[in-house]
Amino acid sequence: MERVQVACDNCGTELVPNAAYCEKCGARTRRARRLVRLAIRVELVFFLLIVAMVAAFVWIYAAQK
Ligand SMILES: [Zn+2]
Repeated sequence: MERVQVACDNCGTELVPNAAYCEKCGARTRRARRLVRLAIRVELVFFLLIVAMVAAFVWIYAAQK
């Protein structure tokens, strides 16, 4: 596991445990950035799932004619 980040990467201010942002400069912590990347990936998977479903319905509809 990655060591818990204790100081801001941007300004070096000490961070509150589990903080998402630096209180001084507002920079995102490494943990928050990782969570954002994870959220984007989950959204992408859902988007591709919906695209695949729409494509499948279109294909089924076209095949029934
Ligand atoms: Zn900072």
